[in-house]
Amino acid sequence: MDSRTTLSETLTSLRVTLQQMARWGCAGFECPPETLAVVQRWAESRQAEPPICAEHRSPKTETLEQIRSDLGDCQRCGLAAGRTHIVYGEGNDRARLVFVGEGPGFEEDRSGRPFVGPAGQLLTKIIQGMKLTRDQVFICNVIKCRPPNNRDPLPEEIASCRPFLERQLAAIDPEVICTLGTHATQTLLNTTVPVSRLRGRFQIFNNLRVMPTYHPAYLLRNPKRKRDVWEDMKKIMVLLRIPL
Ligand code: URA
Repeated sequence: MDSRTTLSETLTSLRVTLQQMARWGCAGFECPPETLAVVQRWAESRQAEPPICAEHRSPKTETLEQIRSDLGDCQRCGLAAGRTHIVYGEGNDRARLVFVGEGPGFEEDRSGRPFVGPAGQLLTKIIQGMKLTRDQVFICNVIKCRPPNNRDPLPEEIASCRPFLERQLAAIDPEVICTLGTHATQTLLNTTVPVSRLRGRFQIFNNLRVMPTYHPAYLLRNPKRKRDVWEDMKKIMVLLRIPL
């Protein structure tokens, strides 16, 4: 990570932390608008500089279409036998924000589109709450074929699919990747730490920022955790300079 990346992240964290402490009513962190405006200007001046990780961003080596064509009628793991459709992912090939889920469920397998079932409808609402549309972001999964009965993906299935996910992320080169749930987070960050301990703080994967958060399917079962996800999304909005 270069010094510009570190400073930009530090400034973003500083602003978010100051706001959070002000919201909590901590003495000494009242955070008048002038203070926030100063920190915001610092962060913007850093973001106006050349994009982070320029060595990673250019030159682009391949397009999403080329990666899809390379994937072909994939038979690289046992999931091929039971799938209806490969769910490659969809959205904007220049998205500033990419959501990565675990793998297709019933509706996704049937339609060939990511996050279109009940969890997907909640994800769509989350995206809209961020003042974005599904067309502006990119949505994909760690694995591209539905496991039988929605079981957890096996390590060899993840290993077969992971290179394609990594190539997709490199081709899009987003400002933020939001990993949804434990599987996506642990796979991308190569960790066994649960998402509950990683969420809410920007992490780094291949020189790209990652914000882990809870999976929408988990939110459907635990609606109280929606508040946490909204806090995480606000941090992404600050980074993307979307007005809160
Ligand atoms: N859950 C996921 O992780 N991905 C989908 O595409 C749908 C549900």
